[in-house]
Amino acid sequence: RAKKDGPGRVLVYQPYMHAEALDRLSLRGDLQRALREREFRLQYQPLIRLADGQAAGVEALIRWQSPTRGFVSPVDFIPIAEEFGLIVDIGQWVLETSAVQVAKWRRDHPDLTLNVNVSGHQLVHPRFADNVMRALAIAGLPSSAVTLELTESVLMSEPDLGMSALHVLRGLGVQLSIDDFGTGYSSLAYLRELPVDELKIDRAFIARAELTSEDLALVRTIVELGQILGLRVVAEGIENAAQLAALRGLGCGYGQGYHLCRPVDPEVVLERLSGSPVGVLDHRSTA
Ligand code: C2E
Ligand code: MG
Ligand code: MG
Ligand code: MG
Repeated sequence: RAKKDGPGRVLVYQPYMHAEALDRLSLRGDLQRALREREFRLQYQPLIRLADGQAAGVEALIRWQSPTRGFVSPVDFIPIAEEFGLIVDIGQWVLETSAVQVAKWRRDHPDLTLNVNVSGHQLVHPRFADNVMRALAIAGLPSSAVTLELTESVLMSEPDLGMSALHVLRGLGVQLSIDDFGTGYSSLAYLRELPVDELKIDRAFIARAELTSEDLALVRTIVELGQILGLRVVAEGIENAAQLAALRGLGCGYGQGYHLCRPVDPEVVLERLSGSPVGVLDHRSTA
């Protein structure tokens, strides 16, 4: 029986194959299988308009329930998927699946929009713009309903290659968002040149946004920057009523966070969309 496997199958220990390297290789195999075997799913977290507490859109967030590893956070597997070139296929699955889903929800909520996270590796793929437009065509979702989220660090590191794709997509009506804004080093001049529609303030600044802190001053600056440049501003990671009140006070347009709504399974999203506004006092019941 041992012979059947042949000599090539004998795994000889090599010093360079330390535990981490082996784990990365097995993670690659697991990720390839995950796509084939449909182990990925999406959750959706509403983007709440702070003025009236209504959900304006949803952000798609990928989830991986591995049969052998259990739940694996995207923070851990997205970098590996990028490293092994799997992110383009995974990202395309996210685009198509979320676009189909939101197109369905828009039958009852025609203004609902979709935010999708995009990796820098997708952005520099020569067919990125085609891939995006193909996903939207399959779903029958208008490009104006879609915002692609790219992190500030990705945008800063791709000054040329990715930019032409972004301009093409912008020309076709797709909107662009800078995710985790405030953690990178974008210059104001560069921000004006980017074809961008939305800034998402990184949750690190919101978490520490106490009334007297420098972080609140920074948040205020970003909100004002958004107003000057005509961009939507979204505060990420709102976890309590005090943060929400502070952001409202600054005139921040949109918010996301556990205090408003956690990322939820698609079955639950419609309840949230037709439910009462979140994070605002219901004037009818307090009157
Ligand atoms: P992100 O795009 O900045 O997404 C926000 C993350 O913050 C999500 O974590 C969300 O669940 C979490 N979050 C939301 N509200 C709160 C809050 O009030 N407090 C705290 N502490 N966290 C909150 P998640 O889903 O684990 O995703 C982490 C990151 O993984 C995302 O950060 C994004 O960079 C990446 N990611 C997720 N889905 C995708 C995807 O489909 N494609 C790509 N390329 N990246 C993805
Ligand atoms: Mg995001
Ligand atoms: Mg973010
Ligand atoms: Mg992030």
